[in-house]
Amino acid sequence: METCVFCRIVAGELPADVVYEDDAIIAFKDIHPEVPVHLLVIPKKHIASLAHVQTEDAGLMAQLMMALPKLAVQQGMEQGFKTRINTGRAGGQEVAHLHIHLTGRPSLK
Ligand code: 5GP
Ligand code: ZN
Repeated sequence: METCVFCRIVAGELPADVVYEDDAIIAFKDIHPEVPVHLLVIPKKHIASLAHVQTEDAGLMAQLMMALPKLAVQQGMEQGFKTRINTGRAGGQEVAHLHIHLTGRPSLK
């Protein structure tokens, strides 16, 4: 899957502004942010889209979901945040590697 842009980021072959990484997931800043905070949170494993998730990926999906509120706080969004998963061509998915958009703005202190 060396042609997958997000697999190449996981492999360190392409630069990315990584804000979090563990054994199974990685989070980095979207190259074209729509709002002040715009992260992409992805599994390191290549899964083409949400429609390609298998039963064996259940634990990984839970890890992804549970990372979101922690990343939001790390980014200063204690008051709330938005998440979005585009799936398939009709769903607006441009990169065929499952990713969650985590967006918002830091809360005013
Ligand atoms: P999609 O439309 O597939 O849900 O979103 C893909 C997102 O990936 C877009 O917001 C786009 O800006 C972002 N993106 C595409 N290529 C790269 C890249 O090479 N690096 C980073 N950091 N973001 C990318
Ligand atoms: Zn990939």
